[in-house]
Amino acid sequence: MLRLGITGGIGSGKTLVCSIFQHLGVPVYNADTRAKWLINNHSELKSKLIKQFGEATFKEGLYNTAHISAIVFGNPSQLALLNDIIHPIVFEDWKQFCNAHNTAPLVIKEAAIMLETDSKFTVDKIALVYAPLAMRMQRVIVRDGLSEMDLMKKIKSQMPEEDKLKLVDFVIINDGEESLIEQVKGLYKELLSL
Ligand code: ATP
Repeated sequence: MLRLGITGGIGSGKTLVCSIFQHLGVPVYNADTRAKWLINNHSELKSKLIKQFGEATFKEGLYNTAHISAIVFGNPSQLALLNDIIHPIVFEDWKQFCNAHNTAPLVIKEAAIMLETDSKFTVDKIALVYAPLAMRMQRVIVRDGLSEMDLMKKIKSQMPEEDKLKLVDFVIINDGEESLIEQVKGLYKELLSL
């Protein structure tokens, strides 16, 4: 079984690319969605978070993003502590997902942040979904109703796409011109022949 990581900046089209792979029958694990689910449902993870960041980490039983953001925003050591608690549990969950699909020739892990963390070591190959900045901004502003300023803050907090291009095995261009379906089908075929 080959484990493919799919990453890319906000609004690059990762989810769209993964949905095409899913249509081809490839099991897809969305690390960001799954991490959110685990934070609210994994009792050991919840206890560790409360121990580190206080009772206010959960409000009426639900993860209190505002509380955690206030602690970790602009504080790399606190952010590292948060990641050190969450990441191993998500990695274990991903391992279980792979085991559950061990007859599939290919499985995909989708994550916005992959090249920046140890997540890159949990896959065999990595594909970057790449779209021009202006296009990503336009798509996210329409999708999320974010202001241009808030979106720029998010984009600036992520690794520049030009740096990511040098670190990945494959690139899927999502510029509205090259067919996404054809690129995904081509990559799927290439991966199965490895
Ligand atoms: P995020 O990191 O924010 O989750 P993402 O990389 O998963 O974003 P998508 O959610 O797949 O990106 O795409 C962002 C938005 O742009 C969505 O509303 C999606 O439908 C739209 N979009 C993506 N690619 C295209 C395309 N080629 N043509 C038209 N719309 C697109």
